[in-house]
Amino acid sequence: MLSRPTVLFLHKNTLMAIIITDECINCGACEPECPNTAIYEGADQWRYSDGTSLKGVLETAEGSFIADEAQMPVSDEFYYIVPSKCTECKGFHEEPQCAAVCPVDCCVPDENVVETEAELLEKQSFLHQNS
Ligand code: SF4
Ligand code: SF4
Repeated sequence: MLSRPTVLFLHKNTLMAIIITDECINCGACEPECPNTAIYEGADQWRYSDGTSLKGVLETAEGSFIADEAQMPVSDEFYYIVPSKCTECKGFHEEPQCAAVCPVDCCVPDENVVETEAELLEKQSFLHQNS
C-alpha cells in the first residue's frame, strides 16, 4: 500500500509524482540526497524553509504558511516526502536521487499523479527563488 501524502503544491492543486511506500526500512539513505530537503524521518516535523530560500509568509493554494514554521509530519512511521518540496530533482539532477539510493526501491512514481517537467521546474524556481 502507498503512503499517500496530502499536502498540495504551492501554486496549483497538484500532488507530487514520487512517494515513499510502506516498504521503507527507515535506513535514512535518501534524506541527505534530496536537493530540496523534501525528505524527513517519520514523525519529524518539516518546514518550507529547510534547504530552500523561502522566508516569511508564503501564499499557497492551501492558504498562508510561515516558511520557518514547523508543519505536521506526513507519516509517523516511515520516512516521507513533502510533496510541495519535491521537484523529482528537476533543476538539480537527471533522475530522482532518493530512488537512486534507496536499497529497497520504495521511492516510486505515483502513476495516478504526474507533474510535467515545466511544473516541476516552476516549483524548483519557487523553492530557490533567491538562490
Ligand atoms: S525526487 Fe529528488 S526532490 Fe523529490 S524527494 Fe526525491 S531526492 Fe527529493
Ligand atoms: S532510502 Fe528507501 S528505505 Fe531508506 S529511508 Fe529512504 S525510502 Fe526508506
